[in-house]
Amino acid sequence: MLALARGLDSYGYGRLRIAPSRAQYRAHRISYRIAFGKDPGELYVCHKCDNPQCCNPSHMFLGTAADNNADKIAKGRTRSGDHTGANNGNAKLTEAMARRAVELIQAGKTNVAIGRELAVGHSLISRIRVGRSWRDLSLSMGYEPKASKQSPKSGRTKCKLRAPPVRPPDQRRDQTAPISLGPLISATVAEAEHA
Ligand SMILES: [Zn+2]
Repeated sequence: MLALARGLDSYGYGRLRIAPSRAQYRAHRISYRIAFGKDPGELYVCHKCDNPQCCNPSHMFLGTAADNNADKIAKGRTRSGDHTGANNGNAKLTEAMARRAVELIQAGKTNVAIGRELAVGHSLISRIRVGRSWRDLSLSMGYEPKASKQSPKSGRTKCKLRAPPVRPPDQRRDQTAPISLGPLISATVAEAEHA
């Protein structure tokens, strides 16, 4: 396998080219494939540390486009204003769903389990849990949202790798949709693993 580093793209993600293909891949997606043994395919490989350059697999999680957007909003990477609850144009939860989510949080269910039950991304549930969404509803149901144990402002994993300067979110186009790494990467990674 011949991997050629191609610097950073305009979003701050590391780029790699795997010879002999001309195609370029995002380095963190290849790191994910090597660490977890599967192609992220159509899913986003999101960064808990919010550092696009980071290739530490323990800082990554798989998400849909909706998860990725909710995560960006939760971490303040997009303009979200101060709209809350059903007035929020980004809200994917109806009040009835939010009420159910609060009940399940109170019952001790995890964000992932609740998200699965309500068929929404777990990041939306996380926002309720920490009081960034539906705070008044939570309080009216006797649930006091607890701030995240991670750094209070961002909720992001601390990453030692220094993040490069990237364009502020307002000036960025939406991130391009993920593309599957495909058979070439899978074959070259498998070959490297068995070498
Ligand atoms: Zn990181």
